[in-house]
Amino acid sequence: MSNQAVTLTAVTTKSGDDGILVATMNLPGRPMNVVGDELMAGIQTAVDQLADPAVKGLILTSGKADFCAGGDLDRMSKWTTPQEPFEASMAMKRVLRKMELQGKPVVAAINGHALGGGLEIALACHARIAIDDPRLKIGQPEVKLGLLPGGGGTQRLPRLLGIQQGLQICAEGNDMSPAKARQIGLLADTAKDRDDLIAKAKAWIAANPKAQQPWDNPKFKWPGGDSRSEGGKQLWAIAPSIANAKSFGNYPAVQHIMSAVFEGGLLDFDAACEVESRYFAACVTSQASKNMINTLWYQLNAIKKGASRPKGPAAGKVGKLGILGAGMMGGGIAYVSARAGIDVMLLDTTQEAADKGKAYSQGLLDKAIQKGRSTPEKRDALLSRIKPTTRYDDLKGCDLIIEAVFEDRAVKADVTKQAEARLESDAVFASNTSTLPITGLAAASVRPANFIGLHFFSPVDKMPLVEIIVGKQTSDETLARGFDYVLQIGKTPIVVNDSRGFYTSRVFATYISEGIAMLKEGVHPRAIEQAGLQAGMPMPPLALQDEVSLSLSMHVREQTKKDLAAEGKTYVDHPAESVTRQLVEIGRIGKKAGKGFYDWGIGPDGKGKQLWPELTKMYPPKPEQPSQQELIDRLMFAQVNEAARCYEENVVRSVADANIGSIFGWGFAPFQGGALQFINAYGPGRFVERARQLAKQYGARFEPAALVVKMAAEGRSFAE
Ligand code: NAD
Repeated sequence: MSNQAVTLTAVTTKSGDDGILVATMNLPGRPMNVVGDELMAGIQTAVDQLADPAVKGLILTSGKADFCAGGDLDRMSKWTTPQEPFEASMAMKRVLRKMELQGKPVVAAINGHALGGGLEIALACHARIAIDDPRLKIGQPEVKLGLLPGGGGTQRLPRLLGIQQGLQICAEGNDMSPAKARQIGLLADTAKDRDDLIAKAKAWIAANPKAQQPWDNPKFKWPGGDSRSEGGKQLWAIAPSIANAKSFGNYPAVQHIMSAVFEGGLLDFDAACEVESRYFAACVTSQASKNMINTLWYQLNAIKKGASRPKGPAAGKVGKLGILGAGMMGGGIAYVSARAGIDVMLLDTTQEAADKGKAYSQGLLDKAIQKGRSTPEKRDALLSRIKPTTRYDDLKGCDLIIEAVFEDRAVKADVTKQAEARLESDAVFASNTSTLPITGLAAASVRPANFIGLHFFSPVDKMPLVEIIVGKQTSDETLARGFDYVLQIGKTPIVVNDSRGFYTSRVFATYISEGIAMLKEGVHPRAIEQAGLQAGMPMPPLALQDEVSLSLSMHVREQTKKDLAAEGKTYVDHPAESVTRQLVEIGRIGKKAGKGFYDWGIGPDGKGKQLWPELTKMYPPKPEQPSQQELIDRLMFAQVNEAARCYEENVVRSVADANIGSIFGWGFAPFQGGALQFINAYGPGRFVERARQLAKQYGARFEPAALVVKMAAEGRSFAE
């Protein structure tokens, strides 16, 4: 046995005097280790060295910050036939199978994230030890991109942890910390740091010279029983219905994962692995996974790398932030900013109101402590960064001001003037308005080039998106600084041009309105609500309207009508309007009043809701009800067509922003990959045809956007 380091393309092995090989995965030219032929060939070579009688065992670790981040999506997106993913998945498993069957102990020394294929490599080792860092992620997130673990994850996890736990890890895709992984038996141990990790791995090898995987032991018994067992039967009787109640069959990966685990629970290990590869191929070639990988991976990454940010200005950072208005939004923005280490001045008209805004953060943090997700020290550190105040002089030295006072032009103009008088000339002023055009608000500013819209969503601490609105005079420098701030607080920015309702509110409203229009036509409200959920939306349209409040929507419409009249433009009535007005007139203004389309606050815990029984008297259902698919098409086409118009009018500036904005902003069905990807997947030609049918039947609002008609004629789709 040589004592020298052997350099392979992706994996370097080193042996010490103790006869233990340390193989370090370090894919050249890539920031992370990803599973592909190169990495697997490296592992194969390392495993081959175990044949040397002097070698006692192998430690598999990584030279990068992560252990291994998972599958190589670039490679996957090039696959066109099901054979390719099937073969690739089988090839990976042949190497892993050889590793676990060669007779000597192999330990995964997990120094960083072990996700997807990375965890599967670790599962094929005889033991796993990880550094005990709560930020280190372990899990099988494939399902979130419409895929399933194709490297044995759906087989090894259930055999190691039991069917229920294994299924949950694969089908939900949530990651866990090393502490949690150790608690459930996924890890043999945790370590303090890298040195401790390797020392513990070596000790494990010394103590287990004849390591064997549990499933290769002839006496192997499934923890909790296999798919045929009593426990298995009980689980499989309900698991599919639980999954379908959430996914409505829109996520084929969830079904394929269940099938792979179920069938694997009836088969021997090698046959089960082959079954898994077939389901993997089915996932890879599914439209849902193509949609999700395109948008939630490629487009999201492009946005995070600054695709929509002007290239010129240097990267900026906010050190001190001023927030005007400590209400629901101001309080939330203070929290997410202080969490990112920013000093926050939280200003309101009275000290009491300002203090209340800060108390919002205290409430969130106290809850987090209760749940074990934070500590009193962390809470106090965060709270010390928020200063509630009524004095404008405290805003001196702020790099950025975010205005979140009442939605009233005069109030906004007043606070803008007062704040600007205390700021340096290069400070940025942002408004969190949800409806007022930014260019108009900027008229109150002495430096409109520094004025921008930063539209947060409620609740701010949970919603991942910020819609950045560029006014007519907003400079590139200002946009860049707004963009950098959004990334600094860990949110995702999309950039849109100034327009009524901007992008997200404008498109989102079409979903609600279409649902209400159906009610007016005599579609049963239960069918409408069900169609929203079946379409993959997080909330059905009538319930959502109640949440938003009918009176607010009516108020916004009336304002729009007035503004359009002032501009000499005509306003086109939507059939939903008369319904909203009728309900508002009888006091059914939505959730905040306890009554709208639903009666709210009912049931034993006072938290339930049910459709208002009188609704079907006001709008009697027609004897002939349309199919659910017809309703789903209407709900989706209404949104998608409006999104295409926004793109056509350059309101939303890029395809990526339109897609990500739709999923992160208002929960547009993620499996569709976003509002414009919907058209790509449907096919622009087919889309135009169907939109025209809907227009003929339900109104001109369905007439396909001119841009899509043009794309269809030219055989193009939305590209980015
Ligand atoms: P809110 O009523 O909860 O809070 C407004 C706060 O501003 C109050 O605390 C009030 O005392 C304070 N305020 C009023 N006039 C002031 C002044 N002259 N100086 C300082 N403070 C003053 O309202 P909110 O829901 O937080 O909304 C604030 C802004 O955010 C609005 O423009 C709204 O359109 C926008 N917005 C709201 C949501 C939402 O879901 N609520 C979403 C996006 C954007």
